[in-house]
Amino acid sequence: MSAEKETVFLTGITGYLAQHIAQQLLDSKKYKIIGSYRNKKKVDQLVNDLGNNPDLSVVLIENIADPEAFEATFNKYGSQINYIIYAAAPYNWGITDCEQGFIQPGINGSKNIFTCAFKQAPNLKHFVITSSFAAMLDAAFVNDPNHVFNEESWNPITYEEALKINRAAYRYSKTIAEKTIWNLRKEFHPDFNVTSVAPNLILGPQCFDTTVANKLNTSCQYVNKFMKSSPGDDVPASPTGGVIDVRDLARAHIEAIKDSEKFDGKRLLLTNEGYGNQTFVDILNEIEDLKGKITIGTPHRDDDIDKRQAIVDNKKTRELLGFEFIPLNKTIKDLATQVIKVESK
Ligand code: NAP
Repeated sequence: MSAEKETVFLTGITGYLAQHIAQQLLDSKKYKIIGSYRNKKKVDQLVNDLGNNPDLSVVLIENIADPEAFEATFNKYGSQINYIIYAAAPYNWGITDCEQGFIQPGINGSKNIFTCAFKQAPNLKHFVITSSFAAMLDAAFVNDPNHVFNEESWNPITYEEALKINRAAYRYSKTIAEKTIWNLRKEFHPDFNVTSVAPNLILGPQCFDTTVANKLNTSCQYVNKFMKSSPGDDVPASPTGGVIDVRDLARAHIEAIKDSEKFDGKRLLLTNEGYGNQTFVDILNEIEDLKGKITIGTPHRDDDIDKRQAIVDNKKTRELLGFEFIPLNKTIKDLATQVIKVESK
């Protein structure tokens, strides 16, 4: 006899990462999902892409900046929820209002969902927050090859700094969102376990071809813009950092809920290989369809990128997860070939 399926409340289900999480959860046939969305058209497409799966239901949560955003959902579904994956967060450089666009969603979203989880989800076993390397880095040291970031690092960014520009607001928002969860756990002493999963830049294919558009989600756009470049175009020196494949990252979220005790109290730092913009351009130029059509920049300029940026040590995370991450070359090629395929139709 098969065990009864448990229910995951997955927020921001229409997002780039969350779609992969949803697909992997449903593919396992072990879970039901209640997915939150804010855009009806997007969620209708996703439900269709996921095959109108009877294990998937969706609920509208318009804005996690609303201090009561999650109340109605937990009033209705709270007792059904066994796991929460809190993946929703604004990650879009088109947002220019630092306070309303990033800071308030960061603070209020975490506060409200964790409080609802504690008060209204009596069968909850595990709470996972998708944090970010942005909550761990310190901008003063990102280009210092003698500096080490690891699972214990915290971004020291202040509220005042966050108000200056949207990218700083995003970093602050992710930091405060994760800190709020850990602080509330200390305050409430809940029965359920807690994990944070902090990725560096997430790349790899969209879960479904239907999401491929001329402009992709924020992180994939870092690569896609070079797919739309012309020979001779400049390849700027920054940004630089590390990449995790979206499929590995989705899997990490699910490993945490599957082996709840092992991952309790852990901050996972998800990054694999370092990159510079030129790394992306070099890999794209290995693809036959793109050769001669896009910029080549200064080939191999970023091959030594790891010697020019801080060390990101995620040994503990790799050991806990126990699986090999997808190489960056494959991540970029899978992303690019999907775009080429869709655009050639
Ligand atoms: P994404 O595609 O933009 O997904 C974000 C999701 O959150 C979407 O479903 C979005 O809804 C929803 N959302 C955004 N703001 C919201 C708000 N104010 N109220 C309610 N829902 C809201 O981004 P992603 O790359 O998948 O990111 C997923 C998570 O990973 C986020 O927590 C992000 O901070 C984190 N992260 C991402 C990266 C990266 O490189 N992509 C790196 C580190 C951490 P719509 O679909 O309607 O827009």
